[in-house]
Amino acid sequence: MFSGKTEELIRRLTRARIARQRVEIFKPALDTRYHTDDVVSHNQNSIRSTPVQSPSEILLLAGGSTDVVGIDEAQFFDESLVEVCRQLANQGTRVIVAGLDMDYLGRPFGPMPALLATAEFVTKVHAVCVCCGELAAYSYRIAASESQILLGETDAYEARCRPCFLAGEAAHTHRAEAGQRTAH
Ligand SMILES: [Zn+2]
Repeated sequence: MFSGKTEELIRRLTRARIARQRVEIFKPALDTRYHTDDVVSHNQNSIRSTPVQSPSEILLLAGGSTDVVGIDEAQFFDESLVEVCRQLANQGTRVIVAGLDMDYLGRPFGPMPALLATAEFVTKVHAVCVCCGELAAYSYRIAASESQILLGETDAYEARCRPCFLAGEAAHTHRAEAGQRTAH
């Protein structure tokens, strides 16, 4: 979230294109925040992509003829993405995956932990904490929802460092308890 991971994905895929490699980009069909068929980053640099319902579609569509497969918003795919990436990599395809490592509660998100473990290279890009300006690794949810998947960028989340994330969680718990007391 706001960390530039999609920009970094686009940067790497653009370089592969310049090197005349065959590049395919996929993203989960549920991530339709901007356009259905573009990977769009927050700074409006975009690159054409194919929305897919499930990771198995990536195998079918990328076939044997693709040099580089890019996958954006990987946290929204199910665990089968790990096996799909393994198969692609085993057959010689370069696989570049971008995704959020943690959800709004700081829990490992979807297939990301297994992807982090099995990747040859991992780059963690960080946002800037909106509270104090330190490096931010957490997505603090402002919106009141308990669902793990809540789409929306600017109004539902803010980037926070660990201390500011924890302070927000503590304030939230405090407010919830106060609310329960008034409800009784
Ligand atoms: Zn902070």
